[in-house]
Amino acid sequence: MRRFVIAGNWKMNKVLAQANALAQDVSAGVTALGEIDIVVCPPFVALAAVQAVLADSAVALGAQNMHWEAEGAYTGEVSPQMLRQLCSHVIIGHSERRGHFGETDEAVNRKVIAAIAHGLTPIVCVGETDAENRAGKTRDVIDRQTARALAGLPPQQAAAVILAYEPVWAIGTGRSAAPAQANATIGAVRDVIRRECGGATATATRILYGGSINPSVWPETIAQSEVDGGLVGGASLVAADFVALAEQTQEAATADSGDSAQVAG
Ligand code: PEP
Repeated sequence: MRRFVIAGNWKMNKVLAQANALAQDVSAGVTALGEIDIVVCPPFVALAAVQAVLADSAVALGAQNMHWEAEGAYTGEVSPQMLRQLCSHVIIGHSERRGHFGETDEAVNRKVIAAIAHGLTPIVCVGETDAENRAGKTRDVIDRQTARALAGLPPQQAAAVILAYEPVWAIGTGRSAAPAQANATIGAVRDVIRRECGGATATATRILYGGSINPSVWPETIAQSEVDGGLVGGASLVAADFVALAEQTQEAATADSGDSAQVAG
């Protein structure tokens, strides 16, 4: 069994005092949830403050992006060695980075390799646009994005990567993918990992679903066999919703573990 993950992507929201308050409320709300990994990803400028808020908490901290170089003349960028002092996770290749900022599969791959090299856990987003979905290209897109993201990583390092299948048409739209559909596509992502990195890596890799998750739809999705957790945007900005999603994730993890213990990734 894979250890489930629930991660909140706060995007470009929350000024410092709001970020601290949200982190405090999330931390206080999840104290009883020891069976899953819980991650919050505030904007860069709030990382240091939220790190202090979460110091004695089981909630892990992540960034939303990074450059692949350790240091240098890259105005406005933030490096993995800077992030390593602040947090444990980093979202890479979010569709908003790919779509608004022209992030390529090659850049995603460089970032993934750099994150692993600096001891950060990358949460790598893959997913098709609405047009690609309508054109029947979902499998092609997730195949290309997954294979290229993991290119050059030895299987053991690839197993440390968390993937997130996030159909672009489901992000921030209120149109969450149907649970069976999410499950099938995540199964296809796992097949790509099996082909590229081998069976052991495919079995060990956590693959999340993201796209308009909320507490009304999440129990059915997290109960799917291939879904190992969620990457949450809008609902992660409301502590009560994010805590409810974490509770639902832990319930599913506990139900899932049954007679076999979960393995930390
Ligand atoms: C996201 O941006 O990663 C995301 C899943 O957003 P939302 O939950 O708001 O759809």
